[in-house]
Amino acid sequence: MTTEKDYHFETIAVHAGVEHDPTTGAVMTPIYQTSTFAQTDVGEHKGYDYSRSDNPTRTALQNALAGLEGGKHALAYASGMAAIDGVLRLVRPGDHVLCGNDVYGGTFRLFDKVLSHYGIEFDFANTADSGAIQSELKPNTKLIWLETPTNPMLRLTDIEAVAQIAHDHGAWLAVDNTFASPILQSPLSLGADFVIHSTTKYIGGHSDTVGGAVILNDTAVYEQLKFLQNAAGAVPGPMDNFLTLRGIKTLAIRMAQHCRNATQVAQFLADHPAVAEVIYPGLDSHPQYELAQRQMAGPGGMISFILHGGETAARKIANETQLFTLAESLGGVESLIELPAPMTHASVADSPLAVDPGLVRLSVGIENAADLINDLKQALLKI
Ligand code: PLP
Repeated sequence: MTTEKDYHFETIAVHAGVEHDPTTGAVMTPIYQTSTFAQTDVGEHKGYDYSRSDNPTRTALQNALAGLEGGKHALAYASGMAAIDGVLRLVRPGDHVLCGNDVYGGTFRLFDKVLSHYGIEFDFANTADSGAIQSELKPNTKLIWLETPTNPMLRLTDIEAVAQIAHDHGAWLAVDNTFASPILQSPLSLGADFVIHSTTKYIGGHSDTVGGAVILNDTAVYEQLKFLQNAAGAVPGPMDNFLTLRGIKTLAIRMAQHCRNATQVAQFLADHPAVAEVIYPGLDSHPQYELAQRQMAGPGGMISFILHGGETAARKIANETQLFTLAESLGGVESLIELPAPMTHASVADSPLAVDPGLVRLSVGIENAADLINDLKQALLKI
């Protein structure tokens, strides 16, 4: 099955990109754990010559990723950061990139600490505010980069409005869709030029592999990206591709449960006297609740909150939960808790993107919601 247009998301997630194995009929895509492929004559082969360039397990994953995002092309990368780096290689010295001012710490680090040394100019603006974007554009702005919802403040950006701004300016729009996942938000259909994922998160869904992806419609740009990826080599291995592909099959039901659980957990936290603020796109207290309703098919599994007790209480609760594991990352079946400032966002410390040290971030898993709430309840008693 390769045409996804007529199917619903749950069906696409199970079937997209998956062809029965042509040699054995295997229903599930095999792990083609091989670096090279036999040639019958010089340059004569069955479409694969070397696994940095292409591998059948990766092809199946890429087809599935394209299907999920409704894009023409997808490239799988060795990590989310490799995918981001891949897109940034389309930008040349002298170009300007406007990036959201609330993004994953590693994205900021790559832009500010690495790529800025190669003659690319970066500015960081509040992409939730279209006016701020407009005023930060420069004649050499080539790319607008945003996350929605953002990591970790869960701010939203109106993708359709920003795509218009970018295109009127002759720039590309790239949307990191990691937090929403393709089931909750379709940036390409709203006008984005690139969708990026850390497939390590919801797409893989089981915290057992690291990967990334770029999905796009423009064939010429895809060819360029593919050339760059083969030249630079940031490809994922067959086993990782297999695990990610397997994860995709349950993405729809996992996301539904993530959303259900997170909604209950967010409500519990909002009603708790020790909690000063809860940030969750599914609560009507979220400043962009209306946009969340319009742009997303569900509020997602990520919650950020601040306790009245500030950083001390935040560190305490992160140590006291039992079901919520204190760990970086997100989007797996299991619930995680972390403090972005000293953990996932340590690389934005002392920058304008610095995160409140008292902010707590939850990745709400697919366990039973009552068990998760009880875990937080007992931890809150100890702060
Ligand atoms: N984008 C977002 C929104 C992330 O949260 C992360 C990692 O946490 C990345 C990109 C980087 O992905 P990876 O860790 O797979 O390199």
